Formats: sequence, structure tokens, C-alpha cells
Amino acid sequence: MKYLKLLFLSLGVVTLLVFISLQFPSVKKEIYKTLFKATVNNSMSVWEDNNSLKATVCGSGTPLRTKNVAQSCIMVEAGNDLYIVDVGDGSVANIQRWGINLSNLKAALITHLHSDHIADLPDLNLLSWVNRSREQNLTIFGPEGIETTIKGFNQAYVLDHKFRNEHHGDEQAPLGVDEMVANTIDGEGVILSDNGLTVTAFLVEHDPVTPAYGYRFDYKGRSIVISGDTAYSTNLINFAKDVDLLFHDAISYEMTDINTEAMNSFYETTNNDFYRFGADLFQHIEDYHTPFEEVAIVAKQSNAKKLIFYHVIPTPTKPIDGLMKNIMTEKVDQHHKDWLFAEEGLTIELPLNSDEIVMSNFDA
Ligand SMILES: [Zn+2]
Ligand SMILES: [Zn+2]
Repeated sequence: MKYLKLLFLSLGVVTLLVFISLQFPSVKKEIYKTLFKATVNNSMSVWEDNNSLKATVCGSGTPLRTKNVAQSCIMVEAGNDLYIVDVGDGSVANIQRWGINLSNLKAALITHLHSDHIADLPDLNLLSWVNRSREQNLTIFGPEGIETTIKGFNQAYVLDHKFRNEHHGDEQAPLGVDEMVANTIDGEGVILSDNGLTVTAFLVEHDPVTPAYGYRFDYKGRSIVISGDTAYSTNLINFAKDVDLLFHDAISYEMTDINTEAMNSFYETTNNDFYRFGADLFQHIEDYHTPFEEVAIVAKQSNAKKLIFYHVIPTPTKPIDGLMKNIMTEKVDQHHKDWLFAEEGLTIELPLNSDEIVMSNFDA
């Protein structure tokens, strides 16, 4: 009892001392300085000496997004080279928050030209340009039409870049390397080969969005496939043969049908077209994504080791995310046992010369 009293007294004294010291501006500034130094140091060291192929989920959401979920984005690191597949809204904020060193960014790869896959491209460009000693414009691979998108973004940001150059100078914000350059993919096949990494683009089914691509990364015996948005695709199954990690979009018809029904009933009582259009929209999107059970079949047919559901429709939302995931995956285990949902910050590492799959999370 005596010791307990002493403990409470000590805790009280410590709390009081912390409270008093926080009244001094110099103490507050010192604490901030320590935290800032730790963040900056982190942003320069994250990607050093990497001996693996690695994928990190920088965005797992869709246009029908929910709170705190960024739209589509997967970072792939092969050795010390960084690539980013799709750059949806909110994804660059995640990349910045985790202190990712964008000096190592080699290119961004866009699967197709829907807004939820391209919205943050200008921010990615800005973040990898200012202060980064970049020696050339940022390369953006993408389907036919990517040149129009990139030309438009470049044009929209001409004045922003001019102002930043005038303000920070030629060393920190040099013009001439500040833009994005479109690299249009023609057909399918290997689109880049660098430092042991091969990236292959293959066509997927997302009509009327054509062409739409998925990408396969092969690095010294380890591999990752990212589907982009697609309905069931036999072409994807062929290109995903024996892959270590398969990131695949997925839709739950059970849930979109419930949403359609709810929207229709709201329309009946309110006569507000918003609900009627909403009901139609849930039906329209069903035909260009893959239902969960079929995704599991795709993973089985391609002999993928681990399946990761990303770009999930509807996006699991707290506090009922567990319930939603449960309904979505009822039939998955019948076809493929090794699966999970892509949470933001999830990193899956494939060490070289092994079969290991190591998981961690930036936000954990
Ligand atoms: Zn999408
Ligand atoms: Zn799409």
C-alpha cells in the first residue's frame, strides 16, 4: 500500500513537471526539433541496401471512397529502384507521411486512365522534383491516351513550376527536368528492363476503358502481378503464372446488389434522381470488375502463391469492415487459401534466393 502511494505520488510529480516544462517555448521547440530530425532522417534511409522485391500498398480504395482510404496505388521496389503503379487521390499523402525516399523513383506506371488511378500524378511529380536533384523529367508509362493526360497535367502546372523555380532557384527547383514525359505502351510485352528487373505489360478487360493494362514485375527469381481494374481475364491468368504475389481488384455483387436495392427504395420514396442514378451506377460497375470468387479462381488457375484483394468494391468501412469482408469472401477459401485484404501501409517483402514472404505495415 505504501509503495502504491509512492508510485502515484511519483507519477503525479512527473506529470506536473512535464506540464510545467511544456509552458516554456524553448522546451516545446526542442521536442519538435527532435521529432522533425527523426522524420527527415527516416525519409533518406528507408530504401537503402534492399535485397528483395517489395510491394507496398499506398492506396487501396476506389472512386466510391471512404474516410482515410486513398485511391489505387502500389509501390514496387526492386533492389533500390522504386516504381509506382497508379497514383490515385490521397496516395501521395501516404507516400509523404511514410517518409519514402523519392530520389530512387524510376517511373510511374498507369494501368488505365480512370481518375482514381491518375489523380495524384502532379503531386508525385512535384515531390520527386523539388529538392531531389532529379536529372530528367519523370517517366510515366501508360496506355494509349497517356500522352494527352500528361500533356494536360504539364500544362496545368506550368505556372506552379515557374513560381517554385523563381522562389527556390535553379539548384533546388530546376526547370527543364520538372515535367512528366509520357511513354505510351504499344500492344503488350516487356516495357522495361533495368538493374535485374523486367516489367511486362499485359491487356486486361475493363471495357469501355481500352486499352487497360496489368503489370508483372520479375526481379531475380521473385515476382509480383498487379491487375489494375479488370473483369475476369484469361490473359491475366497466363501472365500471372506461378507469381509470388497477385494484387487483384474485386467486387462483391452481393453487396452492390444490396446497395442498388437500397438506392431504388430511396428513389421510390423521394423521387430524387440522385438515388435512381446511384442504383444504375452500382449495376454499371458490376460488369468491369471481377467478383471475389472469380478472383480466387484466377489465383488458383495462375498458381499464384499469395492473393491480395485491392481496389475492393464497395470499400470495407469501419466499424463494419469485418462484417463486409466476411460477406465478400464467403466462397474464396474453396478455391484459394492464401489471401488477404490490402490495407494501406501494408508492405510485402520477397527476399531474394528464398521462398519467404515477409509482411509488415508502415502504419503499425
Ligand atoms: Zn479504379
Ligand atoms: Zn477503372
